[in-house]
Amino acid sequence: MHIASGAAGREARRQTQMIFQDPYASLNPRWRVGRTLGDPLHAFTPTLRGKVLAERVGALLHAVGLSPEDARKYPHEFSGGQRQRIAIARAIAAGPRFIIADEPTSALDVSVQAQILNLLRELQQQLHVTYLLISHNLAVVEHMSDTVGVMYLGRLVELRRAADLFAAPAHPYTRLLIETVPSLHRIGAPRSPLSGEVPDPHHPPSGCAFHPRCSLATERCRVERPVLQPVLGGTVACHAAQGGRASR
Ligand code: SF4
Repeated sequence: MHIASGAAGREARRQTQMIFQDPYASLNPRWRVGRTLGDPLHAFTPTLRGKVLAERVGALLHAVGLSPEDARKYPHEFSGGQRQRIAIARAIAAGPRFIIADEPTSALDVSVQAQILNLLRELQQQLHVTYLLISHNLAVVEHMSDTVGVMYLGRLVELRRAADLFAAPAHPYTRLLIETVPSLHRIGAPRSPLSGEVPDPHHPPSGCAFHPRCSLATERCRVERPVLQPVLGGTVACHAAQGGRASR
């Protein structure tokens, strides 16, 4: 990946921010919250200093449901959910257009996961920011996403609108993933347990990497890797889906 240098690179870094999985590990334990939030503000707007900078830090804390007084505290003085709020405040400090959120709730207590997800949605509407949310939790994905990309062994196998994908998954792997999620809507629906082990990504199977575990695999799947092609309003990398064989 090419990272631009100079002014263009600086602007790209401002517009793209990150929320990490473990908020405790992603915050400097020796920095007060005021410095953690003030640093990116000052870095991208060097004229921000002193009282004005402190007010901006207070406004950021308020935006994520914390108190401006919290700027004086250290990360260990907060709960896990509060620490993730600080990490979110840091991510939005520079006014990004695009935020990568890597499993932002998986390290949190279940009782606060919904609060953090709702906060992310509120901020998205206020700030008009785009999220790339990475998650293994399909309930979180369904709740948060407009468009979903499903990956298997490091490759994108299905990319579709969330509502369409959850209503009628096109790729056999996506279907198996969705079938594993308990749902009142799917009581009595036929299930096909996922068999076999996940292959070594350094030595993936020939052709379609999913073929050793796929009930629809044919000889073509063993020799020819499918590429993403238009299917059901999105794109899917599967010979069966592209040939209309995978719909149930
Ligand atoms: S390409 Fe073949 S093996 Fe791969 S998911 Fe589709 S049907 Fe299964």
